Amino acid sequence: MNRKLLFQVTAPTVLIGLVLLGVCLAGVWFTVRSQRNLTRLLSEEVACLQATQELQIRVRQLRFRHFLNLVDPVHSRQEPIAEAQQNFEKALENARQAARSDREQEAVEKIADGYRHYQRELALLPAELAGAGQSVDLHKLVDAHPIRFVSDPCQDLIRINQEEIEQTVRDSDQLGHRLRLAMLALGLFGPLGGVLAGYGIARGLSRSIYQLSVRVQDISRHLDQKVASVNLPADGDLQHLDAQLQHVVRRVEEATQNLQRQQRDLLRAEQLAAVGQLAASVAHEVRNPLTSVKMLVEAAHRGRNPRPLTGEDLEVIYREIVRLEGTVQNLLDFARPPAPQRAACDLRDIVTQAVELVRSRARQQGVTLDVRLPAGPATADVDCAQLSTVLVNLFLNALDAMPGGGKLEVTLGTDAPDGLALTVADTGTGIPPQMAGQLFTPFASTKPTGTGLGLSICKRIVEEHGGQIHAGNRPGGGACFALQLPAIAREENHAHVAGH
Ligand code: ADP
Repeated sequence: MNRKLLFQVTAPTVLIGLVLLGVCLAGVWFTVRSQRNLTRLLSEEVACLQATQELQIRVRQLRFRHFLNLVDPVHSRQEPIAEAQQNFEKALENARQAARSDREQEAVEKIADGYRHYQRELALLPAELAGAGQSVDLHKLVDAHPIRFVSDPCQDLIRINQEEIEQTVRDSDQLGHRLRLAMLALGLFGPLGGVLAGYGIARGLSRSIYQLSVRVQDISRHLDQKVASVNLPADGDLQHLDAQLQHVVRRVEEATQNLQRQQRDLLRAEQLAAVGQLAASVAHEVRNPLTSVKMLVEAAHRGRNPRPLTGEDLEVIYREIVRLEGTVQNLLDFARPPAPQRAACDLRDIVTQAVELVRSRARQQGVTLDVRLPAGPATADVDCAQLSTVLVNLFLNALDAMPGGGKLEVTLGTDAPDGLALTVADTGTGIPPQMAGQLFTPFASTKPTGTGLGLSICKRIVEEHGGQIHAGNRPGGGACFALQLPAIAREENHAHVAGH
């Protein structure tokens, strides 16, 4: 599966999964932490409550001792009172340490204040009793006893303590409620998110399929110009898209078959035209020398007043026969090129011999020859005769392009990166524009008596030798043909020269 598509499909679901996992983990962490806090708070509250209850018990004991003393004031009751006071002070200290909230601490301090007040008031109590005599009203005295300064704030502390516990329980309830709500929301929004992500992915895919479908339609419309019309409805359905694609594939096959058929027809037409062109150019090439020969022979063969053939006539007949032979040889070379008979040759020798063959014609046309050869050997593994044909062809074409004289430059170089480089440049008319692109095509010629086979044969020979040939016009006028041929390695070169 395509990686991008896989990412597009899985990324939203993975993201939602990760978010849900994160929320769940955070919820678990929060629950555990809150439960720990609540447990700690509750245990603290319970400890405070226990300390407060202990304090209350000690207050009751103290009050009980005091009342006994009021009802029956004997000296021996002072000691239990002192003991009860000590117990109370201890319980008060415990309560102070257990007090957690500000309100509890405040209430404990009020009890401590009340206790100090109680101690001060307690010193005045025997005088009050003495003033009352035997008619002491015990209820009034109980109400007026200073122990009330301790017992009242003690009640307050218990109340506060109970309130705190209730508050903690309420907080716990509230937390549980919130957690339940959060879990409910998670349970609702998780699947909802999944459904939304699925919907988004399905929508995206559907849109891509739709776009693809529209493109397929577009291609199909283009094909309709070549083959019969095809109607494809565009929608985001995969099955439909598959059907559309199959349809288009069939159309493409039809169009390809049509094109192949047309190509075959075109090739055949081109071949027929080429044969016609070849026949016309061969007829032209053959007819001219034949006419000259025929006229001379007819004149010598005439019944009345025959004109015997002179040496000059024989010379003409011989030249025309050689020309005919050349044309036939060219045709044969083109139709059935002989396999190259390769041997290590020094290209300098081939160039020199080829130049010698055209030297007299060049002189007649007023063309100067400028031949530049390297000092060292330029050895290549070539068929000397075939390469000589190439060079002579190029030289003759150059001379054809310089009917009024000019300069033919032939340069052989041995330091080209691809091997040996040979250039044939002239100062003639240059390659005609209509020949651009078909210079090496058979039968392409601008000459009235040309066969258009010379350059195509040259190209084939050079390529058979593993080389290349390029042509172009020179900036200052004239044409330039550049040949590259693979050279024999330098060491072999030296061996060859030594052997030579
Ligand atoms: P042909 O010589 O029979 O015409 P070629 O294949 O040798 O056939 O040449 C094809 C054509 O290329 C020529 O007719 C000519 O137009 C052009 N051509 C070849 N060499 C030259 C050159 N040196 N300068 C200008 N044109 C050239």
